[in-house]
Amino acid sequence: MASMRWYARRGSDCCCPKGHHFVRLEDGTQIEVHPDTYEKQFHAYLEQIGVKPTTWSEIMHQAEKEWKEYCRVRDAFAENCQQWLDYRGFGVRIQRPQVLTQRARREKSQ
Ligand SMILES: [Zn+2]
Repeated sequence: MASMRWYARRGSDCCCPKGHHFVRLEDGTQIEVHPDTYEKQFHAYLEQIGVKPTTWSEIMHQAEKEWKEYCRVRDAFAENCQQWLDYRGFGVRIQRPQVLTQRARREKSQ
């Protein structure tokens, strides 16, 4: 679904540096809305459908926070090497230095 192409245009009253919201309909009708009015109506719409107003940076900040938390979990998992020493199953191969295997053999035979 294509979104309606609103764009910023210098307002006819020249009051807003960022311009007014402007759209041209297929039949040639043009609609110009003051940014304050647009925001007010948009927020009323959000409230009506139960969506919290947010911004790109707020969502990205939250996403970054969640990603960092996930990385901490991933790092904690990676640091736990004992789990692999204890693992009994396919896909894990443990190779100990010879000195350790000899010591283990000696301890077993004693
Ligand atoms: Zn204006």
